[in-house]
Amino acid sequence: MEKQLLDVAIIGGGPAGLNAALVLGRARKNVAVIDESRPRNAVTHEAHGFLTRDGISPSEFRRIAKEEIGAYPSVSFVADTAVSVVGTDGHFQIATAQGKTFGSKKLLFAVGMKDRPLNIPGLAEVYGKSAFVCPYCDGWELRDEPLVIINKGAEVMHFAPLISGWTNRFTICTNGPAELTDAQREELRRHRVPVFESPIRSIDSNDGIVRHVVLEDGTTIPCMGLFFKPELVTGSDLPRAIGCQITDSGTVVVDEFGETNVPGVYSAGDAASRMHQSIAAASMGAFAAAAINNKLNMEAWKRNG
Ligand SMILES: Cc1cc2nc3c(=O)[nH]c(=O)nc-3n(C[C@H](O)[C@H](O)[C@H](O)COP(=O)(O)OP(=O)(O)OC[C@H]3O[C@@H](n4cnc5c(N)ncnc54)[C@H](O)[C@@H]3O)c2cc1C
Repeated sequence: MEKQLLDVAIIGGGPAGLNAALVLGRARKNVAVIDESRPRNAVTHEAHGFLTRDGISPSEFRRIAKEEIGAYPSVSFVADTAVSVVGTDGHFQIATAQGKTFGSKKLLFAVGMKDRPLNIPGLAEVYGKSAFVCPYCDGWELRDEPLVIINKGAEVMHFAPLISGWTNRFTICTNGPAELTDAQREELRRHRVPVFESPIRSIDSNDGIVRHVVLEDGTTIPCMGLFFKPELVTGSDLPRAIGCQITDSGTVVVDEFGETNVPGVYSAGDAASRMHQSIAAASMGAFAAAAINNKLNMEAWKRNG
């Protein structure tokens, strides 16, 4: 049964949802953070680039965050999956997999993004240990090492100059015919970047550390790490279900304050951004929280005047 009407239901308890909870808790709002605890970075042992927390494990990050938010009694945590959301601005109803229901005036989706299944044999074994998606997160640990970049098309021409800031010993595997123009191939040749187009047969590794990328044509490429571009989908279908606009890349469309096209519904973090980093997600969470709080206070002010 639905209990008291919350000010805000936050769906998703990663850096975006947790930072939003902190800001809203300090603003004396009644908040529930509903989180099933399946973040995308669960595969990794260390998260980097978050000032004061460089190298922390994702689970320890969440533990500290919850401890800090625990100082604000109007915030509660619900370990559950939100399975449906209906309603309109001022009164949304959220139902969970375990049969709980919540009512809230505003809604914040901080549901992150999810990888589609990795379809290269051996990739799952090294993902998060020596195969990564973002050089800002994991490039430092692989600096000057021989790497394989799995990517194709125009994005190769973005990624090659980018990764060259960390190592100049890298090879590109397009895992099938490259979508490169003659000029792009020539540019890569000038920079002595080998390009292999044969499909990848497997990734050989030891204890999560990649050793070789083996191609269908028999080529074996020794390397110490990989960067690849995963296919992503929104962490939950709920934003779409309640009518939020979604971009072609699967992110929720938001304005500069994190508000979606559905009044009273906000989104923050990876789910609403192309920049997938914890500190950026946390910052978006803080921003959306301030916008929500401002709206709630203005509405109360008008009602009471
Ligand atoms: C391999 C890897 C390594 C990375 N390394 C770094 C790094 O070193 N540094 C860095 O800054 N970033 C790193 N990132 C990126 C970072 O993980 C994300 O940017 C960050 O976690 C985004 O935070 P978020 O709060 O938006 O989403 P998430 O952290 O993904 O949290 C979303 C939460 O919402 C929950 N959820 C989704 N749907 C529901 C639902 N219906 N009901 C309840 N809960 C739900 C999920 O289970 C999850 O717990 C890495 C990512 C990957 C994949």
